[in-house]
Amino acid sequence: MPDTSFLDWPFFDTDHRRLAAEIDRWVAQTIAPIASSTEHDDVEAAAVRYAGLLGEAGFLRYAIPKAYGGLRDTLDVRSLCLIRETLARTSGAADVAFAMQGLGSGSISLFGGEELKRRYLPKVASGKHIAAFAMTESSGGSDVASVATTAREDGSAYVLDGGKTFISNAGIAHHYVVFARTSDNGAKGLSAFVVDADTKGLTVTEKIDLLAPHPIGTLAFDGCRVSKGQMLGKLGEGFKVGMATLDIFRSTVGAAALGFARRALDEALSQGDHREAFGQILSEFQLVQDKLATMAIDIDASALFIYRAAWLKDTGAARVTREASMAKYFATEAAQRVVDAAQQIHGGRGIVVGSAVERLYREVRALRIYEGASDIQKLVIASQVLKSHRDAVGQSDPTLLGN
Ligand SMILES: Cc1cc2nc3c(=O)[nH]c(=O)nc-3n(C[C@H](O)[C@H](O)[C@H](O)COP(=O)(O)OP(=O)(O)OC[C@H]3O[C@@H](n4cnc5c(N)ncnc54)[C@H](O)[C@@H]3O)c2cc1C
Repeated sequence: MPDTSFLDWPFFDTDHRRLAAEIDRWVAQTIAPIASSTEHDDVEAAAVRYAGLLGEAGFLRYAIPKAYGGLRDTLDVRSLCLIRETLARTSGAADVAFAMQGLGSGSISLFGGEELKRRYLPKVASGKHIAAFAMTESSGGSDVASVATTAREDGSAYVLDGGKTFISNAGIAHHYVVFARTSDNGAKGLSAFVVDADTKGLTVTEKIDLLAPHPIGTLAFDGCRVSKGQMLGKLGEGFKVGMATLDIFRSTVGAAALGFARRALDEALSQGDHREAFGQILSEFQLVQDKLATMAIDIDASALFIYRAAWLKDTGAARVTREASMAKYFATEAAQRVVDAAQQIHGGRGIVVGSAVERLYREVRALRIYEGASDIQKLVIASQVLKSHRDAVGQSDPTLLGN
């Protein structure tokens, strides 16, 4: 039984508590019975299946605004976090399916014109139309301002040439939100476009096999013609579109890590209370209790960072760059420590393929890399701290930092 005492914290309202109970029940009934049997065989089929189930159950409605079939007027970050946290406790693949519907449509919700919103968002909420977010390139994902894929104006269209890699849902997505260069003006020379997967000139050139189940691959754009109406935000606003979208979803990456960590602690508590060594149960040894205490502290601290950032965003903060980066950095690093400690408490059983902690060990790793590696989160936090300091003393010019 998961510990739900954090739901009494002041960050949550009655709807959040109801959602937490509802998603917990649904995951136990619908996802848990199929999780281990679907994920490893065919990651793409599992992703499509999970998106469909999440859509049917109505949970994807939390990923889009009310006017387009969603449940709240704007994206509610606390709801997104609660859903990711709960899915991740049972299945990393189901969590990714949910996260990508949000990330791959978030820029449309935030910056799309009315026509684009009406065309894409209700389909995304159904779970039958798969979304993707294409920013990273082979020359480097951290330095977003260096994106080299170009979008050249040609009459009523832009023509995209270049490539993207490590794109989640490549090959199963129905649309990609693509960041491309429309001028040489560094970060201010990027623009964002919604590109339908069947657009001529767009191909999936490679599928990438990861440590944990995750549909992901490489895209090529070769004279790919996209109408001007597919642009998100204004010309040259692509960097802003990307960063504002990540501002929302970075806290949710922390929430997925928190889900992995909570599950790891549950597994460790259960193992520690049953396994005997040297004539007593493991959890009576003070060295094991030290691990359990450190895990619990990491978990509560992660939850505080995550739900602070989410609450701030939901209650009207324009940007939560610093808080979301702190949440992502702390929770993903902490989850890695918590999962490792749980494995240690399990001894040899912790690395047997198919055990819960073995799954967590593989699944937790990517979260310290995607949507901005931990090193990049630290640079973002430092630039925000410096900015506050310089604003206070009347200086300016913090560096623009990336993915
Ligand atoms: C599972 C998974 C899913 C992903 N899904 C998507 C997706 O859907 N869409 C998408 O666009 N991208 C996606 N990515 C790509 C991801 O965002 C990038 O991998 C990430 O931004 C890092 O870029 P990179 O791999 O090119 O590493 P690099 O940028 O080459 O960096 C390599 C290492 O160097 C460090 N580093 C870089 N610059 C600095 C610096 N200035 N100071 C200190 N250290 C630094 C980084 O922290 C990193 O550890 C995904 C990646 C993974 C693993």
